[in-house]
Amino acid sequence: MTGNSFHIGRIFGINVRIDWSWLLIFFLITWNLAAGFGVLHPEWGAGMTLLLAVIASLLFFASVLAHELAHSVMARAQNVPVRDIVLFMFGGVSNIERDPPSPRAEFLITIVGPLTSLIIGVVLLFVANTALNPIVDPQNPESAVAQLGPVASVLGWLGSINVMLAVFNLIPGFPLDGGRVLRSILWAVTGNLRRATRWAAYVGQAIAWLMIVAGVALIFGLPLPLLGRGVVGGLWLIFIGWFLNNASAASYQRVVIQDLLQGVPVSRLMRIDPPTVPADITVESLVHDYVMRRDDYAFPVMDGDQLVGLVTMDDVRSVERASWPVSRVRDIMRPVADLVMVGPEEDAAEALNKLLMRDVRQLPVVHNGRLIGLLRRNDLVKWMQLQGE
Ligand SMILES: [Zn+2]
Repeated sequence: MTGNSFHIGRIFGINVRIDWSWLLIFFLITWNLAAGFGVLHPEWGAGMTLLLAVIASLLFFASVLAHELAHSVMARAQNVPVRDIVLFMFGGVSNIERDPPSPRAEFLITIVGPLTSLIIGVVLLFVANTALNPIVDPQNPESAVAQLGPVASVLGWLGSINVMLAVFNLIPGFPLDGGRVLRSILWAVTGNLRRATRWAAYVGQAIAWLMIVAGVALIFGLPLPLLGRGVVGGLWLIFIGWFLNNASAASYQRVVIQDLLQGVPVSRLMRIDPPTVPADITVESLVHDYVMRRDDYAFPVMDGDQLVGLVTMDDVRSVERASWPVSRVRDIMRPVADLVMVGPEEDAAEALNKLLMRDVRQLPVVHNGRLIGLLRRNDLVKWMQLQGE
């Protein structure tokens, strides 16, 4: 998901990124709110209405961020590193680099998110309600909302959406927060993270399918309590269900993979003595003497016996054919300072995290400053295939 996102800043030392899909939802929420305010308060005028809608959307964004920050800060307090927070179409996600060390840690990291949303929601609703009380007409409570001033309207909306956010996240389908809470409990009971994840993921997929079925029912005109009615609501529900289903399956797969690689040192899976190339040969020579002669996709680049970089077929592709005889490997390689590397004793599960996070296909394996191997994605895949999953 980081591929389509851009960085907007750092809070408490955690990078915050926004996915492009989030802009779409920001626009939809603002538009929807402006339309709603416009119907209730024609006296506000178009400019004021739009401004309020934008402010409300931005505050909504801030409250989603607060929810994610709660997860991230608690994760770090539990010694689990956090890579970044990405805000996207369905809210936010804290990219926590590995599974929490214990059921207790997982429970704490998870529960603080919905709790934050709930507290924000209840406080805002309380404030909005205080503003509402003097003018509420018990015969016609609906009309009271229309009498709310701009500030109370925004706070009231924000309060209820935060409560909804807390409730939605507590749906017990992994990887939603509720599913993680469920997993932490199953984990504590069974003492087996993989089994706990599998069950929590099954529940997640079951709930996802229920959402899809409910969405279809809505589209065919069946009104459902709490879920509303209509084609748009139905499509939205199907969409969320589909997303949750994929996320459940992917999270489970990730845990299986972690499990297969845990405790296996990199040195056992890496390619030993990978073919290397000298830094000063031309790209022409690289292609004809190395790339075409072997099956390898990437070559560590050496200056004497010193590793100075890594060159891949993609790097070659970025050079025009005409400059192959004059460009040197040194000019097109990725220099050693930009490379992610692993040690031979490192855990293969950690190495896989590095591969995925940097989106590279191989990692040079370095011991005491010397290149001793190359760990490729394919090597990890081969190892996992041998174990039949
Ligand atoms: Zn959460």
